[in-house]
Amino acid sequence: MGFELVEFVHPSDKHSRVYRRVWSEGIDPGDVYQRFSFLKLPFAFAAVKRNQKDVNRRHLLISTVIVFLLLTLGGVRAAEDDLTLIKAEIGKRHDEAVKRLQDWIGQVSIAAENRGYPEGAEYMAKLARDAGFQQAKVINTDGKPGVFATLDTGAPKTIGLYFMYDVKQFDPAEWTSPPTEARIVDKPPLGKVIVGRGAVNQKGPEAAFLAALHAIRGAGKKMPVNLVMVAEGEEEIGSPHIPQLVRRPEVLAALKKCVGVFMPSATQDLDGVVTVNLGSKGVIELELVSSGEKWGRGPAKDIHSSLKAMVDSPAWRLVKAMDTLVSDDGNEIKIDNYPKPRSLSAEEKAMIEKVSKVRNEAQTKKLFSVRHWIDDLPWEQANERLESQPTVNIEGLVGGYTGPGGKTILPHRAVAKIDMRLVPDMKAADALAALKAHLAKRGFGDIEVIMTGGYDPTSTSADSALIKAQVATYKKFGIDPMLWPRNAGSYPGYVFTGEPLKLAAGHFGLGHGSGAHAPDEYYVIESANPKVQGFDGVVISFVEYLYELAK
Ligand SMILES: [Zn+2]
Repeated sequence: MGFELVEFVHPSDKHSRVYRRVWSEGIDPGDVYQRFSFLKLPFAFAAVKRNQKDVNRRHLLISTVIVFLLLTLGGVRAAEDDLTLIKAEIGKRHDEAVKRLQDWIGQVSIAAENRGYPEGAEYMAKLARDAGFQQAKVINTDGKPGVFATLDTGAPKTIGLYFMYDVKQFDPAEWTSPPTEARIVDKPPLGKVIVGRGAVNQKGPEAAFLAALHAIRGAGKKMPVNLVMVAEGEEEIGSPHIPQLVRRPEVLAALKKCVGVFMPSATQDLDGVVTVNLGSKGVIELELVSSGEKWGRGPAKDIHSSLKAMVDSPAWRLVKAMDTLVSDDGNEIKIDNYPKPRSLSAEEKAMIEKVSKVRNEAQTKKLFSVRHWIDDLPWEQANERLESQPTVNIEGLVGGYTGPGGKTILPHRAVAKIDMRLVPDMKAADALAALKAHLAKRGFGDIEVIMTGGYDPTSTSADSALIKAQVATYKKFGIDPMLWPRNAGSYPGYVFTGEPLKLAAGHFGLGHGSGAHAPDEYYVIESANPKVQGFDGVVISFVEYLYELAK
């Protein structure tokens, strides 16, 4: 795009004539701001005309004079400013960085399908080495291999990184663009997005972080902090072996030097609003299996359904057992001696109140295709429930005949796939033990409880250096981030926040994407929405964060 600088406007003045004009011409003001950020005018927003002939020459002249005056009057940071050079380098390396992300999406690793191992780990290690990590090695576990990498520049501070290189399963038939081709697609009104499995969860943000390292090095600058990376290939199955990775002596020793650990993430919603999560719920993923074989009643193979009149049903048994786990409406956990959640603190309630006022309830309902919250709770109380409550959720029920039409059989086996989210201070081990004891006590001891993954919840203090640097960095972008008690989803941050490391841990990064675990997962590359950063803006956010952490 042929940008021409015509005039300035204060960045907070989003309703100004200039800002509206830029926006109405389909130009991303965020892009423009970055493009002219070499001017280092913290108070000025550069506005443009796309078309040379439309440029108001007089305005251009006046603006140029203003810029010149500001430069000479020293209203600009010194030209040797590292960030200026690095930002230029980010622009130069845009295509190369996007191509790197596309190639990575093409390298699929799915733990649940045992697909893409150990290639995915080797690929991850190579990406780290290419980005400047002096050593990156594949570490085997009892499950899928992980990667441990270090980048040491002798900086006083060291930052930990948590990466995942695996992705969720997908069915290409459900996608409008092939999930492994990572095509760049127009997605109005967002702009150009990359569509592919892993685009936002989590290769897109991770690739943007790696692009930040390439740009710092490419600009001839020294990394402001040292880095320790732990990457796993089993995040999408509940990280069953991450302790084996993190607790290796050399990994633990490297992590002990860290100020905190973060995962690159796309945190902007469509209003540009950023929330900083002070932790995450824990989770247990498991299968409940009811079978004639284990029960000793019902059939040990599928039989004709007429025999239901004289033979017990393992499928009904599973339904009856599951019914004892929750209240009649399915919303309260009724497992005997189940660990109790800690109630929300006054501080956490205040965070929820603030966020509830900013976030749009109607838009959220539309996003999820939901018409009511539980008990028809008002928005703020629904959010309090989201933040404070553990869950028992049915992911899927599998059993008997599920094809077209009917098939009159009495199946010998039925399976419920369950996930149970945990909030502080619940422990995954206690929750699992309570579930097993509950089923046994109710006479359902034959129903197998097979835990496939899971871990404890995570908490990090708002006062930690890691979180404070996040808030400071977002503010540089004109964003006042909102603190949020915890992500209602889960990630295995407990290995960093728990014993023996007790580090701060969280997610960071501007940018937007959606569709994780679903068809047409995407990540914004060129943003048409002035409130949301495109890929290069995200890369800059990582550079700024590293410099902020180094302070
Ligand atoms: Zn995921």
